Amino acid sequence: MIDRDRIVRTFLDLIAIDSPSGDEDAIAADLEARLRALGLEAWQDAAGNVLARRPGQGDPLLLSAHMDTVEPGRGITPVWDGPDIIRSDGTTILGADNKAGCAVILEVIQSATEDNATTRPIEVAISRGEEVGLVGARDMDYSQLSAKVAIVIDSGGPPSSIQGQAPYHYTYTVEVHGKSAHAGLEPEKGVPAIHIAAETVLGMPQGRIDAETTGNVGTISGGLVRNAVPDHARIEGEMRSMEFEKVEGLVAHAKDHLAEVQGRYPNARIESDFALEYPGYRLEPGDPAAGLVFGVLRDLGFTPDPQPVGGGTDGNIFRGKGIAAIVIGRGGYNQHTRDEYLVIPEMLQCAQVVEAAVRKVEPS
Ligand SMILES: [Zn+2]
Repeated sequence: MIDRDRIVRTFLDLIAIDSPSGDEDAIAADLEARLRALGLEAWQDAAGNVLARRPGQGDPLLLSAHMDTVEPGRGITPVWDGPDIIRSDGTTILGADNKAGCAVILEVIQSATEDNATTRPIEVAISRGEEVGLVGARDMDYSQLSAKVAIVIDSGGPPSSIQGQAPYHYTYTVEVHGKSAHAGLEPEKGVPAIHIAAETVLGMPQGRIDAETTGNVGTISGGLVRNAVPDHARIEGEMRSMEFEKVEGLVAHAKDHLAEVQGRYPNARIESDFALEYPGYRLEPGDPAAGLVFGVLRDLGFTPDPQPVGGGTDGNIFRGKGIAAIVIGRGGYNQHTRDEYLVIPEMLQCAQVVEAAVRKVEPS
């Protein structure tokens, strides 16, 4: 049975170990040891993600969370706000994003073991570097996992709060190489990289393109001194859309524009790099992860509440790897701020939902 005191203790133990992105060695070792102590085969893959497996019956189910936090995330001091809410002391984040997710996974496994419950085979993947671009999930060794369905425990709010769709996300970098010259004495010998970069910027998608599509030029840099024609400029931007065709269309349009600017400035060299950071998805009826979790939520008396989100999670990466992933809430609020807090009854509900999912063993 899910044990409130135990999961709260686990959560407090985990937030006592500082783990801002890039500094995860201590928490990874702790999580690996905890999973071993629960009888699982546990290890770290080459990227330092903590993976584990526990035998069971039927098709395996992947439970996932991330171990890193954002800053300020060192020396976290939890403060009780009534019997059901834990906050930070206001100088740091709390780290419920995503130590609450880690605590849920550990509690569900411990509960299954002590109840001697029949479960599906459970695979665990606790990623590093989620907050700095889904780094761990991107580099995860998927050959060490076999599950085709995943529950990612990393959304805000109660477990019924589900990420129903997430956008396709492209990033790009444009480098303009020009030629420097004295700006006052012989500007005609120069090729003004900043000026040319400005013309590239004006043709890139900016702002809200339509209800489900956005673009942004986020940074521009270049030049060294006021009185020299700049020989280098760089811009960084991104585009997102719920529809793959739309974001692909924006990319094609941007590339055409860059080629057109290049044509007008043959003495400059414009280099660009476009990358699909992660694929988007929309939970469709019939999706195995949605079917499992929506069913369990309804069995427990909750109403699934899928909502679109503007950003990516490890769930996007899993989907891109052919694992049907669903991202559910684990009771956290005001994530990535010093006002972050955890509603314990909602973390418990999350554990109950995940527990019901792992115990839903289809007769074979
Ligand atoms: Zn998170």
